Amino acid sequence: MRLAIFLGVLVVMAAWETIAARRTRVLPRARRWPGNFGIAVLDALLTRLVAPAGAVGFAHLAEARGWGLRHFTDWPVWLEGIAAVVVLDFAIYAQHRVFHAVPFLWRLHRMHHADVDVDVTTGARFHPAEILLSLGVKFLVIAALGASPGSVLVFEVLLNATAMFMVGMDSR
Ligand SMILES: [Zn+2]
Repeated sequence: MRLAIFLGVLVVMAAWETIAARRTRVLPRARRWPGNFGIAVLDALLTRLVAPAGAVGFAHLAEARGWGLRHFTDWPVWLEGIAAVVVLDFAIYAQHRVFHAVPFLWRLHRMHHADVDVDVTTGARFHPAEILLSLGVKFLVIAALGASPGSVLVFEVLLNATAMFMVGMDSR
């Protein structure tokens, strides 16, 4: 499902960038895209290897084990879901700030910012080590909150689609 939405946003933004380009490209897409897609595939394979069930699978585990703050409150399910999405999003925002601020982490993160042109594929251009650290941050938050699998799925789809949309809009 996440892959389908990823591909959908990718195709729409890539077409939009072609029809209404805001920037002049330094390199043709054929020179950049194999690298950016290669990185995206590598990241996806690595994630599968480390955590085959992904963040949603981890949320199932947290649920089965009864982990997280959720079990100390009696909020309605929908409110817990919204809170989980907001907290996860904030954690990833904070992680991004930290990756810019700490020299060692910036060395990983600058791969994303070093793309010669900015287009929709820039949103999938992340160092594998950054992807794994980010997965770790998500797992910590999921375990701490006891975020439900559904809320994690919504968060993952939103994060992925908006990241691709925003860099796409930037180059359009
Ligand atoms: Zn950044």
